[in-house]
Amino acid sequence: MPITPEQQAEIDAQRGQSHHTIRATVPGMEAHLYEAKPVLDHGFIRVIDYMGDDNAITQAARVSYGKGTKSVQNDEGLIRYLMRHWHSTPFEMCEIKLHVKLPVFVARQWIRHRTANVNEYSARYSILDREFYIPAPDHLAAQSVVNNQGRGAALEGEEAARVLDILKTDSNRAYDHYEQMISEDGQQGLARELARMNLPANVYTQWYWKVDLHNLFHFLRLRADAHAQYEIRVYADAICEVVKDWVPFAYSAFEDYRMGGAQLSGKGVECMRRMLAGENVTQESSGMSKGEWREFMAVIEG
Ligand SMILES: Cc1cc2nc3c(=O)[nH]c(=O)nc-3n(C[C@H](O)[C@H](O)[C@H](O)COP(=O)(O)OP(=O)(O)OC[C@H]3O[C@@H](n4cnc5c(N)ncnc54)[C@H](O)[C@@H]3O)c2cc1C
Repeated sequence: MPITPEQQAEIDAQRGQSHHTIRATVPGMEAHLYEAKPVLDHGFIRVIDYMGDDNAITQAARVSYGKGTKSVQNDEGLIRYLMRHWHSTPFEMCEIKLHVKLPVFVARQWIRHRTANVNEYSARYSILDREFYIPAPDHLAAQSVVNNQGRGAALEGEEAARVLDILKTDSNRAYDHYEQMISEDGQQGLARELARMNLPANVYTQWYWKVDLHNLFHFLRLRADAHAQYEIRVYADAICEVVKDWVPFAYSAFEDYRMGGAQLSGKGVECMRRMLAGENVTQESSGMSKGEWREFMAVIEG
């Protein structure tokens, strides 16, 4: 369960309060504030705070005094221009703070994104909950035969049941030992900071994660992508749903230029021109490696 009834009551109480401000707010984000959006079996993302909106991006780009908006079309056009030309600093004027609950092995991938501010739940100070990520059966997949960094079809039948049983049993056994080691009942009890080392990487942790919109887009570009591991991708997808409501113009430009767009090498551009001129270009005549050619063809054939 991602959220206990007590935690939900705290969230409801926080949502019951409001503050008057002359700062820009975004109705879509106000609706998301504090709410836990479930991800995986026990995880979530929650918006804790945000700063700025689409207008903050154009305002910074124009270094204007007031709203500085000439028209909505102008603002959207300017945001698209900034995104297209990698003029990134105006996007850094918007910030978001999320509370994320995620398995430790997902956190290890996530923390590689260094341009954020993080504060993690302390398992030196506090006791971790008995919560482990156990994949749903359709995500319990075999090793991919074409990509060492990926997965293939879902495991089936007896093998799937056996793997699920191993995951559940090992997780619970490790947690039982964790509890036994830290217990102060009739013994000194091992320090929490040591006892945690015996827990598996599917145990859940939590953090507050604050990042600006430019670096968030970079994170989403990599982690909402089909090549990202499913377990981090679902978090990125959940964040995308929030960002859409926060900065709709910027998100739409991001979807178009970054998620939907493609980057071609110099050789790729040259091959494209030769193809458009009617030449039958092959991998051998393209000057590209087999891998590059495969990726190039995936871009032009879709
Ligand atoms: C599909 C996939 C597979 C991956 N596989 C592996 C793997 O096998 N092994 C592995 O170790 N990692 C792996 N990674 C992690 C990857 O190499 C990056 O560490 C991660 O995606 C963070 O990217 P980043 O450094 O661009 O992001 P951030 O740390 O958020 O940085 C954003 C940008 O800021 C700049 N920047 C940040 N810090 C510095 C700095 N100190 N110096 C200079 N510039 C800086 C860079 O321009 C950087 O691109 C993988 C990532 C993906 C998406």
